[in-house]
Formats: sequence, structure tokens, C-alpha cells
Amino acid sequence: MQTLYITHPACHLHEMGDWHPECPQRLDAINDQLLSSGIDGLLLHEQSTDATDADILRVHATDYWSFLKRSVPESGYFEIDPDTLMNPHTLDAARKAAGAGILAVDSIMAGHAQNAFCAVRPPGHHARPSLAMGFCFVNNIAVAAAYALEKYGFERISIIDFDVHHGNGTAEMFAGDERVLMCGFFQESIFPNVHTQNQPKNMLNIPVEAYASGEQVRKLVEDRWMTDLFEFEPQFVFVSAGFDAHREDELAQLGLVEADYAWITQQIVSVAEHSAQGRIVSFLEGGYSLSALGRSVVAHLKVLAKL
Ligand SMILES: [Zn+2]
Repeated sequence: MQTLYITHPACHLHEMGDWHPECPQRLDAINDQLLSSGIDGLLLHEQSTDATDADILRVHATDYWSFLKRSVPESGYFEIDPDTLMNPHTLDAARKAAGAGILAVDSIMAGHAQNAFCAVRPPGHHARPSLAMGFCFVNNIAVAAAYALEKYGFERISIIDFDVHHGNGTAEMFAGDERVLMCGFFQESIFPNVHTQNQPKNMLNIPVEAYASGEQVRKLVEDRWMTDLFEFEPQFVFVSAGFDAHREDELAQLGLVEADYAWITQQIVSVAEHSAQGRIVSFLEGGYSLSALGRSVVAHLKVLAKL
């Protein structure tokens, strides 16, 4: 079975200003590398559909979702914070970004694909139940995970977050929920400046010092995630795939390269094949060096699709 690649033209229309690193050209950079690497034609392609209000309200507060709907500007930008702005297309893009995960879960459960990558934006893992922040409005991975738990009645799912920033929104939504094991690493003392000393036991988010190498991060994954993941035996695996821990990315200072992303993806696949029949839905989160982003997504997809 193949890997499903989900995106939507609406995800290209959300933009927050020419200066902003979370820009539509990120999707172009990924698409260019899919074509030039020759893997584009080996993937299944689908356009995402809208997440419904009910889908979004499983993890976000009603007042917050109403606020976002009211705040769509007719032109220009509505500034939620200096880094997180809505343009006239943001809400539509956010619905399509969240809907991609739901389409992915349903496609995998129907046997149409083995796993899926959602090339969507705005990203989601910083979006809190009642707050947009860090370029994120709707928590796409949380919407999909909550949908899978409810619709398919899974007893155990895992969320793996390898973005360089802490997935604070996702952590807040599932802290203490024993159906969920979240594993992440993040560069300490950068945005969103979360401290993880007293995490609930279903949260394995590990701080990493600036300038850590890919080798150090691989060791952390091996020592701190893998035993727990194999023991937990998730029935479905969700991935917050941010590529901003890449050594060429200027938003952080870690030293990963494409081979490290391929290796981490292989670990994720091994967990999914052990207990989840290979079921994985991966979401694009960060990654702001356009060239490194495109190359790293291809490395991730080649492992998912066994190419
Ligand atoms: Zn990030």
C-alpha cells in the first residue's frame, strides 16, 4: 500500500507578510523537491477537505473558534500577536489543514493508503485550546488524534513531535490523557519557552541544548522514546513533522540533516509496524530554510513510502 500526500491550494493563500518565515513558498519548495527527486509520481495524491466545526471543537474552545471566525479580515491582516496574523484566507486554510488529517485517518482506516503526509499550512502544534500562537491557529494533529480516538475507538495512540520547538499546544490538549503517549524533543530556552520538569507521565518531551548534533538527537530518541513507545503499543501513530532542527534552519540552532530525518522516520515506522499495522499520519509543522525543508520532506517521505 502506498503513501498518501494531502495538500490543498487554499493552504497557499494564507500568508502573514513578505517578511514572515512561515510563507507559502514553503509548500512550493516541497513540491519542487518532490518533482525533482522523482518521487511525486509514486505517491497517492488527494486534496484535503474542510474540518467541520465539531472536529475542531473536540480540542478547541467554542469561544476561541468563534473569535477566529469573527476575526477574518476583508483585506490586509488581523494581528493576533506579532508573529501570528490572519489574512482573508487564513480560516479557510486552517480548516483545510485540519481536514487533511481527518481525510488521512479515514483513508488509512479504509485501507486506501498505508500512511499519509499532510503538506499543509498554517501549522498547528503551538495552537492552544483557546489561543493562536507561534504561526498556529488550529492544532491540526490534535484535531486528527481526537477524531481517531472518538471515531475509531482507539485505546492507545502516540504523537511524535520532532519539530525543534516544543509542541506546547498538543501537550496541553493531551496532558494526563492516558490513551495518548506524546514523545518529543525541542531546543531548550527558545520559543515557546516551556519548562518540562513536571510533565504528566504520558508526556515525554525532552529538552535539547543548542548546537546538539544529529548524533546526539538520535541517541536521545533511542534512549528516551523507543522503549516507552514499544511498551505502550500505540494502535495509531501521529507525527508533528517540523524540519526546523535542520542545521541550515535559522530559527533554531540544532544540527540535524536529511539523514537524521530519515533515521527518525525509520524509528517511527518500526513502532507503527510493531503495534499499529503501520498506520502513520504525519503533519508538516515548521521548517524555514526552503531548500533544507524540501530535501528533508523528501527524506521523510522516502522512508514512509519505502522508496
Ligand atoms: Zn518549529
